[in-house]
Amino acid sequence: MPATLQIPALVEHKVSPHARELLQKVANFVEDECMPAERVLEAQMPKNASERFLNGYPKIIDTLKARAKELGLWNLFLSNIHYREGVALTNLEYALMAEIMGRCPVASEAMNCSAPDTGNMETIAKYGNDAQKQKWLTPLLNGDARSAFLMTERYSASSDATNINLRMVRDGDHYILNGTKWWSSGAGDPRCTTYLVMGKTDIKNPSPHKQQSVILVNANAPGITVLRALSVYGFDDAPHGHCEINFRNVRVPAENILLGEGRGFEIIQGRLGPGRIHHCMRSIGVAQVALELMILRANDPARTTFGKTLSQHGTINQWIAQSRIDIDAGRLLVLNAAIKIDQTDAKGAMKDIAMAKIFVPKMSCEVIDRAVQAHGAGGVCQDFPLAKMWAGQRTLRIADGPDEVHLNQLGRTENKRFAQLYVYPCGSGGWDDGG
Ligand SMILES: Cc1cc2nc3c(=O)[nH]c(=O)nc-3n(C[C@H](O)[C@H](O)[C@H](O)COP(=O)(O)OP(=O)(O)OC[C@H]3O[C@@H](n4cnc5c(N)ncnc54)[C@H](O)[C@@H]3O)c2cc1C
Repeated sequence: MPATLQIPALVEHKVSPHARELLQKVANFVEDECMPAERVLEAQMPKNASERFLNGYPKIIDTLKARAKELGLWNLFLSNIHYREGVALTNLEYALMAEIMGRCPVASEAMNCSAPDTGNMETIAKYGNDAQKQKWLTPLLNGDARSAFLMTERYSASSDATNINLRMVRDGDHYILNGTKWWSSGAGDPRCTTYLVMGKTDIKNPSPHKQQSVILVNANAPGITVLRALSVYGFDDAPHGHCEINFRNVRVPAENILLGEGRGFEIIQGRLGPGRIHHCMRSIGVAQVALELMILRANDPARTTFGKTLSQHGTINQWIAQSRIDIDAGRLLVLNAAIKIDQTDAKGAMKDIAMAKIFVPKMSCEVIDRAVQAHGAGGVCQDFPLAKMWAGQRTLRIADGPDEVHLNQLGRTENKRFAQLYVYPCGSGGWDDGG
């Protein structure tokens, strides 16, 4: 297990011996097998931009997946399904494992625990009927297919889901889909065969929250065109990709609708909670790696300035200290939200998830930025993973709902408590009055 992995004292008693054993296995798998595979993966990716999407994928991933299955490190995020299979894991325990996965970009996919598949699998498991689960969920659970969630649209301000515009018009036993989506993460991967598409089935419904539905769509259906993959600060995230996709008269069987017509809003609310917290769990691992890189660099005896290693300069020493505090604070927020989900459900933990979602990506960006600065020019180039890590973390302040939307929501919740606040009786002079 990496020296840095410590279960916080506050939650230690909640982690079962079985989970500790699994955590150790996850840590060993990530350090010993996934991290060394990163270079192989890079070498197996085509260099030519036109071949990086919807083409092939690095075969080393299949090797890692087979190994993860063999070790029993598969679908760890789906604690309920696992429970039925006798591998009980709480969200708290999974959070500790996801942090370790966050240390290495390929690790979560190797264990079938990566976004957006985890959120999509949970959605189908929660809202799908038996036939839908059999057809769409089973291949995802087996790791034979991948999936994408298509909500955001180029021409609609999509942080407000009532703006979603793609039309789904009923025609006999089919729906006909017309519209354009973008930022469909994962759709660039040739294994991505399942789309969960959000659109409007009833634009005249007086309730703006009952106009939308989510439907399961075969990515190869006629009329679907993947127009392009969007870059993230210049990184293409191939073969995964974040794609712009056009739907032109795409016929989808009506039986593919999830939960029922007009239930789309409900589904995205249910999907985004766990998806958000999983991202935060992995982000703690990303920030931790940035701190480790910063410490290594700051203590490198070959890189002294003005007669001192960087760590001997007070400023950088303080960056290290501040980063330690920030990461540990973020971890506690994440673990607290995970415990709340265990005690209630994602809805009951909404406030706690929102706090983690607002705090953690901002915190990890700040930690990575300090690490970049400590690396000098090296920090911004491809020789270190920091630039890519920062780009990935920065997007999490927008994806799954921008910071401002969550802050507004959280502020409203806190303000509602105003009426119940107990006001300490004190004189007009304030707290010190008569002291
Ligand atoms: C890397 C990446 C991956 C993504 N993956 C997916 C995916 O797989 N599927 C998918 O459907 N989408 C995905 N998205 C899209 C993401 O969910 C949206 O970008 C996000 O919901 C915001 O929508 P928008 O871009 O339309 O911004 P807009 O809705 O236009 O908002 C723009 C800005 O306005 C401000 N704002 C909005 N509302 C408020 C408010 N209430 N108060 C104050 N300020 C506000 C915020 O600063 C916000 O950033 C991804 C995005 C990125 C960057």
